[in-house]
Parts: sequence; structure tokens; C-alpha cells
Amino acid sequence: MNVTKAELVISAVKPEQYPDGLLPEFALAGRSNVGKSSFINKMINRKNLARTSSKPGKTQTLNFYLINESLYFVDVPGYGFAKVSKKEREAWGKMMETYFTTREQLRAVVLIVDLRHPPTKDDVMMYEFLKHYEIPAIIVATKADKVPKGKWQKHQKVVRETLNIADGDELIVFSAETGQGKEEAWAALERFF
Ligand code: GDP
Repeated sequence: MNVTKAELVISAVKPEQYPDGLLPEFALAGRSNVGKSSFINKMINRKNLARTSSKPGKTQTLNFYLINESLYFVDVPGYGFAKVSKKEREAWGKMMETYFTTREQLRAVVLIVDLRHPPTKDDVMMYEFLKHYEIPAIIVATKADKVPKGKWQKHQKVVRETLNIADGDELIVFSAETGQGKEEAWAALERFF
């Protein structure tokens, strides 16, 4: 995919604000600080359209990025921040659940995990949630540049086994630093266009 245009269309807090139209949507989910913004920016050839390192406590929004006028990336707030209050966590959960379970334009969720470490409990919960609702997932294991290439297979196996990745869900080794996995990630998304 040659991305020539990418713009933030809306930061939505409620369904009425989601964009009209039927363009395919791909949501990006992952633990805070895992590298979600860096993944988006790399995929769309931008330095920082998607804000990196979003702080907890800020308004939690679903950010809809329109790509080449033909699809949306929907950046969802990162999970797993210990300092977030119970009230904020509940609001997050409700917004996610509404979007993930009711949005017909949603084709697949890109779940970003860290290739260096086994997926966290929150990662496992997120993936189980997606499988419970039969939402296709593409698992992206990022920060691959921090793992020697000879160990990628071993780390992939840990990710695959910890998440218990379902048949049909792809696992892609990625790096926002080197661009590793970018073409593969686009190919995985394109299967859902
Ligand atoms: P987010 O909170 O999930 O959006 O995470 P960010 O994209 O802001 O990334 C968190 C930190 O990890 C930043 O310091 C990034 O520079 C770094 N980072 C993200 N992706 C990669 C990667 O592929 N390789 C390396 N080495 N660092 C990365």
C-alpha cells in the first residue's frame, strides 16, 4: 500500500461521532507504551501524525485516521496503565465494548504486543475478548529491532502460545525503527478490504 494521504478525521468519545460511510476500519489495540503510535506512523509514512506516548488521565478517545480516502485506522486508548482510576478503566471498557461489538465497518483488530516479552495478562484478556466476539485479529509483535534475529522464532512461539492464537489469525514480526514487517502488515490488512 502506497499511502499518499492520511488525516485525523475525528477523536470520538461516543458512537454518534463515528464517521459516516462504509469504509473498512481497522482498530489498533495494545498496552500503553507498547509502540502503537509508532506502528501507525510507520505504516502511513509519517513522523508523528499519531501522537506517541499518550499520557493516562487524558480524555480517552477513539481516533479515526482516514488513509488514502479508502480505509480508517482507529486508534483506541492503550490499556494496562496501573495509575488509571477504576472509574476511568470502566469508561474505557465501556467505550471499547461498544465500538468493538457494534461497529459494522470494523474488519479486524490489530493487536500490538512487544516481541521482547511474553504477552501480559492484559494482552491475553484483550485477545480473548476479541475471540469471544469472533473479531478477526492480526497480532503485531513490535520492537523486533531489540531482539536478535536468531531469536525471533523463539519469541514468536512464546507470543503464539501465551495468547493461544487462533487458526487464521496472523502473527507479524514488526519494527517501527527498521520498517521490518511493514509490507507483511499491509498485506494482512488488505486481505480484509
Ligand atoms: P504507544 O503508547 O503504544 O503509542 O507507544 P509509542 O509508539 O509512543 O512508543 C513507546 C516508546 O517505544 C517510544 O519511546 C518509541 O520510540 C518506542 N518504540 C516504539 N516502537 C518501537 C520499535 O519498533 N523499536 C524500538 N526500538 N522502539 C520503539
